[in-house]
Amino acid sequence: MDDSAVDLQLDRPHSARMYDYYLGGTTNFPADREAVSRVVTAFPQALIAARANRGFMRRATAYLAEHGLRQFLDVGTGIPTQPNLHEVAQAIVPDARVVYVDNDPIVLAHAQALLISSGQGRTAYIEADLAQPEEILKTSVLHETLDLSQPVALSLNAVLHFVTDDAQAYRIVDTFTDALAPGSALVISHGTPDFSDTLESAAGVYRSVGTAVGIRDRARFTRFFERWELVEPGVTLTHRWHPDAATVASGITDSESSTYVAVARKL
Ligand code: SAH
Repeated sequence: MDDSAVDLQLDRPHSARMYDYYLGGTTNFPADREAVSRVVTAFPQALIAARANRGFMRRATAYLAEHGLRQFLDVGTGIPTQPNLHEVAQAIVPDARVVYVDNDPIVLAHAQALLISSGQGRTAYIEADLAQPEEILKTSVLHETLDLSQPVALSLNAVLHFVTDDAQAYRIVDTFTDALAPGSALVISHGTPDFSDTLESAAGVYRSVGTAVGIRDRARFTRFFERWELVEPGVTLTHRWHPDAATVASGITDSESSTYVAVARKL
C-alpha cells in the first residue's frame, strides 16, 4: 500500500481513535479527545462502558478457545490494544488462526501489531467494509488463513451499531451465518438505550462528527441471533457475561455498561 495516498484526517474526530482514547490508548489526537469530552458530558459512563466491552471480548474469546474454537474472524477490530483477540485465543490454543477486518485506514496503519502471531498460529488483516460481507468472505487472505468448512468464531463487537439500517444489519449477520460451518460461534456486543436515558445523546455526538450510530433495544439486538443457539446466560450486559473476579469487584452497573452482549453456537 502507498501510505502517502491515505488521508488519516487527523484534524477530524474519528470513531476508532475515540474508542482508543476511551481505552487509555495513545493513537488519538486533539480532535478525537475533544469529541470524547463531549460524549462524556452526555454519557459520563463512556470510558467504563468501553473497558467493560473489552473485558467481555477477552472472556468470550477465552471461553470459545476453551470450548474448542481454533479459528476466529473479528470484524470491526479497532486500533490494536493489549491484549488483542489473537493473544487471548493463542494463550489457550497456541495454533489458533485469527483474521481481523476493519475499514479504517488508521487501524490498517497499526495492523502490524495484530500480525505478531504465535509461532504455531497465524493472523491476517483485511481492510474491508462490514457492509459488504460477501467481499470479506471472498478474500483470498481469509481462505489462506481460515478453513470455512470448520467452525469459526465470528465476533462483531461494538461495530453493528455503526450499521444503522436494521435490514442491512440483519442481512450482514445472515450472510456470515450462511457461510459458517456447524459448531461456529457468533459473538456480538452492541450499545443500547435500555438502561440509560443519556446514551442516545452520546450517539448524537457521533452523528455531529459525521458517524452514523444506531443503538438498539433488547428485541432488536436479540434478533441477530435468530438462527443461533444462545450460550448461557443468553442476552445480557457486558459485565454480566461470565464475569471474572475483577469484573465483579469493579461494581459496574447496568447503566454504566449499556452494552448488550451474547455468544451463540451454530447447530
Ligand atoms: N471490536 C473492538 C473495537 C470496536 S471500535 C472492540 O469491541 O473492542 C469499532 C471499530 O469498528 C472501529 O475500529 C471502526 O473502524 C470499525 N468499523 C466501523 N464501521 C465499520 C465498517 N463498516 N466496516 C468495518 N469496520 C468498521
